Amino acid sequence: ETWVYGFGGGTADGDASMKNLLGGKGANLAEMAKLGLPVPPGFTISTAVCTAYYELEREYPSTLSPQVDAALAAVEQESGKGFGDPENPLLVSVRSGARASMPGMMDTVLNLGLNEASVKGLAKLAGERFAYDSYRRFIQMYSNVVLGLRHDTFEHILDDYKERQGFELDTEMEAEDWKAVIVSYKEAVEKALGKPFPDDPKEQLWGAISAVFGSWMNDRAITYRKLNDIPTEWGTAVTVQSMVFGNLGETSATGVAFTRDPSNGEPIFYGEYLINAQGEDVVAGIRTPAPISRERADTLKSADAPLEEAMPPVYAQLREVADKLERHYKDMQDLEFTVENGRLYMLQTRNGKRTASAALRIAVDMARDGLITEEEAVLRLAPSQLDQLLHPTIAEDAVRDVIVTGLPASPGAAVGKVVFDSEEAFAMAEKGEDVILVRIETSPEDIKGMHAARAIVTARGGMTSHAAVVARGMGRPCVCGAGGLQIDTAKGVFRVMGREVKKGDVITVDGAAGQVLLGAVKMMQPDLSGDFGTLMGWADKARRLKVRANAETALDARTAVEFGAEGIGLCRTEHMFFDADRIPEVRAMILANDEAGRRASLAKLLPMQRADFEDLFRILEDRPATIRLLDPPLHEFLPHSDADMEEVAKASGVKVEELKRRAADLHESNPMLGHRGCRLGITYPEIYEMQARAIFEAAVNVAKETGRQPVPEVMIPLVGTHKELSILKAVVDGAAKAVFAETGTTLDYMVGTMIELPRAALQAGEIAQSAEFFSFGTNDLTQTTLGISRDDAGRFLKIYEEKGIYEKDPFVTLDQVGVGELVKIAAERGRKTRPGIKLGICGEHGGDPASVAFCHRAGLDYVSCSPYRLPIARLAAAHAAL
Ligand code: ADP
Ligand code: MG
Ligand code: MG
Repeated sequence: ETWVYGFGGGTADGDASMKNLLGGKGANLAEMAKLGLPVPPGFTISTAVCTAYYELEREYPSTLSPQVDAALAAVEQESGKGFGDPENPLLVSVRSGARASMPGMMDTVLNLGLNEASVKGLAKLAGERFAYDSYRRFIQMYSNVVLGLRHDTFEHILDDYKERQGFELDTEMEAEDWKAVIVSYKEAVEKALGKPFPDDPKEQLWGAISAVFGSWMNDRAITYRKLNDIPTEWGTAVTVQSMVFGNLGETSATGVAFTRDPSNGEPIFYGEYLINAQGEDVVAGIRTPAPISRERADTLKSADAPLEEAMPPVYAQLREVADKLERHYKDMQDLEFTVENGRLYMLQTRNGKRTASAALRIAVDMARDGLITEEEAVLRLAPSQLDQLLHPTIAEDAVRDVIVTGLPASPGAAVGKVVFDSEEAFAMAEKGEDVILVRIETSPEDIKGMHAARAIVTARGGMTSHAAVVARGMGRPCVCGAGGLQIDTAKGVFRVMGREVKKGDVITVDGAAGQVLLGAVKMMQPDLSGDFGTLMGWADKARRLKVRANAETALDARTAVEFGAEGIGLCRTEHMFFDADRIPEVRAMILANDEAGRRASLAKLLPMQRADFEDLFRILEDRPATIRLLDPPLHEFLPHSDADMEEVAKASGVKVEELKRRAADLHESNPMLGHRGCRLGITYPEIYEMQARAIFEAAVNVAKETGRQPVPEVMIPLVGTHKELSILKAVVDGAAKAVFAETGTTLDYMVGTMIELPRAALQAGEIAQSAEFFSFGTNDLTQTTLGISRDDAGRFLKIYEEKGIYEKDPFVTLDQVGVGELVKIAAERGRKTRPGIKLGICGEHGGDPASVAFCHRAGLDYVSCSPYRLPIARLAAAHAAL
C-alpha cells in the first residue's frame, strides 16, 4: 500500500482531486507543483495512515517508515541538501492538513532538522545570528507542539535573559545571546521531561508526525469538527516540506493573499505580508502586517509599504500565480507564500473562506464572467450561509457613538453585553443573553466563546488573524486590531480614549465598518435585490419544490411575499385569537356552559376573523392559503389573573365563581394529547363552522373587491381517523355551500388535513378519500412518533445528541429514518387513493436545508417555513434539484 506521496520539481504523485487521501493542503501542493509553480519539494503522508494509526492504538503500519525514508531522500536530492547534514542541512516543516480546512486546529512545526551539528552548517550558509535564532525558535515550537511544554516557560527564560542584559527588543540579541538562551531552553526541557531535547533529526521528525496525528483527537479539533459537521473518520494527512526562509533579511518576506476580498467579494487582489518574518507571524497578530497591493493600503494601519512597492517583480509574479490559480480552481483562492532572498515560493492554496456576502458576489461575478455556470453559482452558496445576508446591519441614519475603530474583519452588526472571557461568553449565551466577546486576541481555545457570542472584538491582529478568519467562517461580525483598546480582564473593563466600558455594558459592533459603538444602535433590514435577487432567480429556475410561508398576520404575509413565498402553507388561526380586542370574547366562548352561549360569542368573533382573512387574501392575490382551524387545547386561552376573570365575567354576564369552576373543569393532565385539534371540532362543531364561514365570506368579499381569485385551503388538524375528517369536511363544505348561496358567488377551495399522528400516516390511504391535500405537521409528528415532548426535551436531548443517539436535534432536522419513513408511507398511500393529492410540510423543518432535501427526494410538492427562512428553503430546494 502507498502511504506517502511526493511533490516538487514540477511533478507530483498526487493532485487536487485526492483531497480525501492527501488532505486539502497536500492535494493542492501537489497540484501546484504539477502546474509548474514554485513549490518547495516535500511529501504527504496520507489520511489512511491517520486511520491506521488510531486502529493500531497509536502505532504505524510497518511499511510506512521505508516509504518516508525514500520520500525524504527524494527531497534531499531535489533540494541538494541533506537531512541532518552538518555542512548543508535540509530543514523541513511538518504540516497538518485535513480534507476540509480546519484553521488553527492543527499545529505546524517549522525549522525541523536543526540540532547542535546542523545549526553550525546553517550558520555558515545564512549567518550565525539567523541560525541560532532559528534554532531557539525551533526548540520553543517543538517543545510546545510536540512535547507539550508551556509557551511561557520559554518566554520567561528569554525575558529574564533580556532583563539581565538590559535589552528591550529581540533585535538586540546577538548570536552569542541566542546560544546562551538555547542552553537554558534545553535545561528547561530536560528538567520538565526527565530526558534531553531530541538531537536526532529522525527522532524529531517522527515526534512531529505523531504530534500532528495526535492533534486530530485534541479537544480543539474535536470541538471544531462538531461545530462544522466534520466526521472523525476523515483523519488528517501530514505534509513534510523543505523550508524556505522569509526571515533572511529585507529581501525576504512572508504573507497571505486572497484573489478577491473575502469580506465583500470585491474583485481586488488582497492580502497582508511582513518583511523579514517567518511562518505564522502574519496570522498571529504579533506585528501589524502591511498590505500586498496599493488598492487597499489605506484600510491597513501599517507603516510599511505595500508589497507592490517594496518588491515589484515579486508582486507581479505573485499576481500572475494568483490569477492562474483562480482560473484553474474556478474559485477565489487563499494563498500562503514566502519570499526568500527575492525568490517567491508558494506554500499553500485553497478555496478561500468568505463571508456570505462575499460568497454571493463572487458566485454571481464568476457566473457573469463565464468562469462558472449559473447552476454552479447557485451551488457555491450554502443555504445556511444565507442567514447572514438576511440579518440586519446598522441603519444609515443611526447615531453612532464610536468608541474605537479597528479593521472590518467580518461584516454584519450585532448588539450585546461586553464579556472578556470565552467560558463566560458561553455560559451567558446559554442563559439566552446576547454577548460580545472582547479579547486582546483570540486563539483556538476561544472557539466555543466566539461561537456563543453575537460578535467579536479584538485589540490585536490583522484581517487574517485567528479572530478574523474564524469569525468570518462562523458568520459573526468581527472588528479586529482595534489598537486603542486597553483591556483589563482582571478588573473587567476596557479603556479607550479616556472612556471606560465595563463588563455587562451594552455595545454595538459594526463589522462592515470596523467600528465599536456605545449602546444599542438602530439596525437596518438587509437589501434583497441586486446580486441576491439575481442568485435567487437562478435558484428558482433550478428548483422543483415550491415554497410557502407559515404566516398569520398581515405583516408576516407581506414579508413572505417579499421573500418569494408562493403561498401560505400554514395559517394558525388561534394566533388571531389572542389580540387584546378579542381575547375576552374568545374566553367567554370557551367558558360558555352550552352551545347557545358559545354561538353568541362566536357570532361576535366572526367579523373579526373575516377581516383577518380578507387581509391575507388581499396580500396573497392569487396565491393559495392553507388555513388551519383551531388547534390548541382550550385551556391555553383561559384567563389566569383575577382581573382577567372579571373582564370575562363582564363580557359574558356569567359570575366569576362559575367561570372559575368551568376553568378548573378544562384542566388536562396531558394537554398535548388531550382535547385539541379536530377533537374540538368534533365536540364543538360550531367553532369550526364559524371559522369556515369567516374564510369563505372573506374569500368572496376579496374576489368581488379585487376581481382576483383567492384560493382557500381549509385544513383540519390532528386527524387520526378518516371518520374524524369526513365529519368535519361536511361542516366545512356546509359553510361553503351556505356562503356561496347567500352571496351568489362560487369559488374553488380545498379541504385537507394535517398528517401529524402516526395513525394518520398509516391510514393515509383511507384519509385521502376525503382529503384533497396533506400537510405534514412535522413538529407534532416528531413529538408523537418519538414520544418526546418538545417542551420537555431540553433536559435530555443534548445528552442524546452527545451520545449520538440522535445525530441532530430531531425538532430542527427531520429524523429521516423514523418520522421521514412515516412521511414516505403517507405520501405513497395518499397518492394511491388520490393520484395528484397535494403534499407539503409545514413544521420547523421546512426551513432546514437537510430536511428540505429530504422533502425533494420524497417527492413532496412544497415546503412551508417561517418568512425569514424562505430564501434558505428556496436555495436548499435548488441544491436538492441540482
Ligand atoms: P495552517 O494550516 O495553520 O495554515 P500551515 O501548515 O499552513 O498551517 O503552516 C503555517 C505557516 O507556516 C505557513 O503559512 C507558512 O508561512 C509557514 N510554513 C509552513 N511550511 C513552511 C515551509 N516549508 N517553509 C516556510 N514556511 C513554512
Ligand atoms: Mg496553524
Ligand atoms: Mg496554512
